[in-house]
Amino acid sequence: METIQAVGQAKQLQYWAPEDKITIFTNGQDGSEQYEAKLRAIAPHLPFGVENRKISRLEEAEKSIHVYLADDETPREVGFLVYDPLTSSGSFAWQLGLNRTATGNIAADHPFYQTSVRGVFAAGDCITAHRSIPHASSSGYYAAIAAMKQLHGDLYEFQSVVDQTGYRAD
Ligand SMILES: Cc1cc2nc3c(=O)[nH]c(=O)nc-3n(C[C@H](O)[C@H](O)[C@H](O)COP(=O)(O)OP(=O)(O)OC[C@H]3O[C@@H](n4cnc5c(N)ncnc54)[C@H](O)[C@@H]3O)c2cc1C
Repeated sequence: METIQAVGQAKQLQYWAPEDKITIFTNGQDGSEQYEAKLRAIAPHLPFGVENRKISRLEEAEKSIHVYLADDETPREVGFLVYDPLTSSGSFAWQLGLNRTATGNIAADHPFYQTSVRGVFAAGDCITAHRSIPHASSSGYYAAIAAMKQLHGDLYEFQSVVDQTGYRAD
């Protein structure tokens, strides 16, 4: 999880959990100490704990989750675990050479959701760091209409509105 995401999630959890019970697991991220320093710099007044060891496995318990850390068979018991990576795009997106946003998602904008490659449209979680069903279904709807218009244009040899406006995320 990116530092800014991790701190954002920890801050949100403040409403449900006592502050001193919030732990950010860095999963042994490279340069864990620098990572922890970055976290603390972003939220100097947020009293969360940081666990720098690698997570070896998770187990569901009756009313909690057991987090097992590297070389330690005594689990950390947590009530709620959040995993929120910045990007959720598959490797095919990079194989196609699609442009990415600063948050690592595929760049594709309203209203056509065409990517930087003509004829490739993207919608839903893969284009945003703010993932939700309303966004996924509405962007999917717009992308599907735009793809259909472009295909019509290609089929009947006219320039579709998608190509006319050049609305593409580059
Ligand atoms: C635990 C949890 C709770 C949530 N609660 C809410 C909520 O209360 N309200 C809300 O609005 N949103 C919620 N969300 C977010 C919401 O589920 C997503 O924003 C939404 O499902 C995104 O839809 P999508 O179609 O973009 O992606 P997805 O629903 O993830 O669908 C993508 C599909 O593509 C498939 N796929 C991936 N790679 C490939 C490939 N290479 N080839 C073929 N298929 C592939 C995947 O298997 C998956 O079926 C929640 C998410 C999670 C994880």
